[in-house]
Amino acid sequence: MSQKIAIIGGGYLGSELAKSLDEVAQVTLIEPRSHFVHSPAMIRAVVDPSLLDRALIPYDGLLKNGRIVVAKAAGIDATGVTLDDRTRVEADQIVVATGSGNAMPFKPHGADIAGLWADNQRIHQQLKAAQSVGIVGAGAVGTELAGEIAHAMPGKKVTLISSDDTLFPTMPPKLGRSLAKKLSKAGVTLLLGQRAENLESMTEPYAGSLELTDGSQHDFDLIFPAIGSRANSELLEALNGVEKSNANRIKVDPWMRPSTLPNVFAAGDVADGGDAMTIVAISRQLPWLKAALIGLAQGKTLEGIKPYKPWGNRAPILVPLGPKLGSSFLGVFIAGNFLTSRIKGKDLFLTKYNKLLGRKG
Ligand SMILES: Cc1cc2nc3c(=O)[nH]c(=O)nc-3n(C[C@H](O)[C@H](O)[C@H](O)COP(=O)(O)OP(=O)(O)OC[C@H]3O[C@@H](n4cnc5c(N)ncnc54)[C@H](O)[C@@H]3O)c2cc1C
Repeated sequence: MSQKIAIIGGGYLGSELAKSLDEVAQVTLIEPRSHFVHSPAMIRAVVDPSLLDRALIPYDGLLKNGRIVVAKAAGIDATGVTLDDRTRVEADQIVVATGSGNAMPFKPHGADIAGLWADNQRIHQQLKAAQSVGIVGAGAVGTELAGEIAHAMPGKKVTLISSDDTLFPTMPPKLGRSLAKKLSKAGVTLLLGQRAENLESMTEPYAGSLELTDGSQHDFDLIFPAIGSRANSELLEALNGVEKSNANRIKVDPWMRPSTLPNVFAAGDVADGGDAMTIVAISRQLPWLKAALIGLAQGKTLEGIKPYKPWGNRAPILVPLGPKLGSSFLGVFIAGNFLTSRIKGKDLFLTKYNKLLGRKG
């Protein structure tokens, strides 16, 4: 237990890593939020706010031995982390997992969990009152949101807009085709190959009119921007030798190092080592990172540890359209409603993450 490991950010990467090292190292998790935010359930929570009771999970049951410091990290150097109140957390190894932000009401502004709760309630009321709903962006969040609204509020006129010509164009084509068919059957209008030229907010739903590439105008009672996450990379940007990639992410080498500091690692959404910004990617990074940190504690050199290999084009993706429907790519084949619902759609991994955080599930 002699190694001191500081983990910055208690999202999917930070929380699970902290827990997995809790018995073998002196872990300090630095996290300003009072609650873990389980993002896959935040989409359905727009149609069913009662889910928030299990989607926003207090941190107090996560660690048995290590400590959680409720604070924002403001700086990193070779010997530790400086918090925003100038307190120091000394560490032998530092893992930066500051993640990413997304639109309202999917992720909080900073540490504001009460604000996220209030945003969810307000936007749920706006959605209930809306007749027509436009969703801009047909990645997993936009597509799932369309499916959730069509399932839970079947009277609404839902339109899903994407600048790509197909859904999920980087995945095997059968995935996009199958989701498009299911959404159309559920009454969702798909406008593909069309950019919204005048999106007024990238972060906040609003009522308004969208002008598309073909010049057509579409009025909506509520428009949800769903155009992707942006990494929280400020902390890493201050280090020597960092290089930015897209969506504000910071490049890491094959040993997950973002800078010239050999004992600073970065993983999850903030780090670009070749994986997408997903929990699925993190599920692959976690065992490597845990083994590397334990190896270092046992006196191995990092270069003696096999480098991390990202998913490549075999990364699975599960896209539920409400609790019963959906399609998934499971690495080698496309699964339909049954498996998508069983693996993700029904429970949205709520039980798994409540257990991880020491709750009943
Ligand atoms: C609505 C939605 C649904 C999603 N659904 C899925 C899904 O079904 N499957 C999937 O694979 N992926 C999904 N994703 C993507 C997934 O949420 C992210 O990949 C994941 O959250 C990344 O985890 P992370 O640990 O890197 O960062 P995050 O989960 O973003 O956590 C980062 C943490 O760092 C903290 N932090 C930030 N700055 C500091 C600082 N300076 N000091 C200390 N702490 C700090 C934050 O407070 C936060 O708790 C979804 C994303 C969204 C928005």
